[in-house]
Amino acid sequence: MVRIVDVRERTVSIRSEIQNAWISFREMDTSLVAVISDVVRDGRPVVGFGFGSNGRYSQGGLLRDRFVPRLLGADPADYATGDDLSIDPERAWSIVMRNEKPGGHGERSVAVGVLDMALWDLAAKLQGVPLVRMLSDRYGDGRPDDNVFVYAAGGYYTPGRPIADLQDEMRRYLDAGYTHVKLKIGLATLADDIRRIEAVIAVVGAADHVAVDANARFDVATAVAYATALEPLGLWWYEEPVDPLDYEGLRQVREAYGGRVATGENLFSMTDARNLLRHGGLDPARDVIQVDPSLSYGVVEFARLLPELAAHGWSTRRCIPHGGHQLSLHLAAALHLGGNESYPRVFQPIGGFADGSSPENGYMAVGEAIGIGIEHKAALYAECRHLVG
Ligand code: MG
Repeated sequence: MVRIVDVRERTVSIRSEIQNAWISFREMDTSLVAVISDVVRDGRPVVGFGFGSNGRYSQGGLLRDRFVPRLLGADPADYATGDDLSIDPERAWSIVMRNEKPGGHGERSVAVGVLDMALWDLAAKLQGVPLVRMLSDRYGDGRPDDNVFVYAAGGYYTPGRPIADLQDEMRRYLDAGYTHVKLKIGLATLADDIRRIEAVIAVVGAADHVAVDANARFDVATAVAYATALEPLGLWWYEEPVDPLDYEGLRQVREAYGGRVATGENLFSMTDARNLLRHGGLDPARDVIQVDPSLSYGVVEFARLLPELAAHGWSTRRCIPHGGHQLSLHLAAALHLGGNESYPRVFQPIGGFADGSSPENGYMAVGEAIGIGIEHKAALYAECRHLVG
């Protein structure tokens, strides 16, 4: 029977000078964890690694005080697989979440998401398979996609940034193999934002390959004013116009906007996402759900969203998770999601995919690495190695 003998965590900086409509990333950091098993291969213990997605800071306190002690204090029989050769991440997740009341998710979901990622990485490594294979067999149809659609999310604000610099950034994404891009709105005036958007469209060559992201900055009236100005542009989507939990407000914006709306990256549980499906006024034939598994209790909770999507008439193809990290690449391929966000060059070392991989005509190969494949991302793996010596 496999025993988890140690769980180590540390905080790593993912700081940068960029800003969206709400926050600066000058103080941004995240948590890394290593879940260490008693299985030794090639003279080393088999270890699962996990990390938090960008935007919610490190979770060391919650991990150290509650979640890690529960896992280390558990009987290995309580997280073993039937054949005793691996661990079952769902069973381990239930141990971690023991004595946690429902609702009030806060950033508990981020701490648990980091552990969940490491548990899946460990389970896939113990089985000797890429994570996509495990997820497809367990939650999908056993026939994962080979490639995942990815788009380049950027277009951040930096003080005094000229529009030509924004255009250069978008050109680099196209040169790197992306076909669709996203830029931030909501920190400038509406008139300035429209100029920025039109400048990006001029580079990309197609408005329906350009999305905009307001990062929940607007009240309903401002969001509707933007919607009215954006609609004639024919954009790919208009993201997170209002507060993530203001479903009625979103419904009103949705009603006022003839294009596509995307949201959900700041909903951290199945029940919150289900409320979005129920009350957000979204159109399952057109709109996009962006729940990020790393921020919202991990793969185990994301799997609970699948039947809710189906019950509300949503194809998994309408899910394109926030975050631009390796976990969602596996999940997208396994569950036939519509794609995955990508942040070329920012949020290092956690952002992006295996070293040397780049999209071809907007699609990224998942690869054959065992587990999540963090070992194939040198800068991230170097940070993880600090945890295990
Ligand atoms: Mg966003």
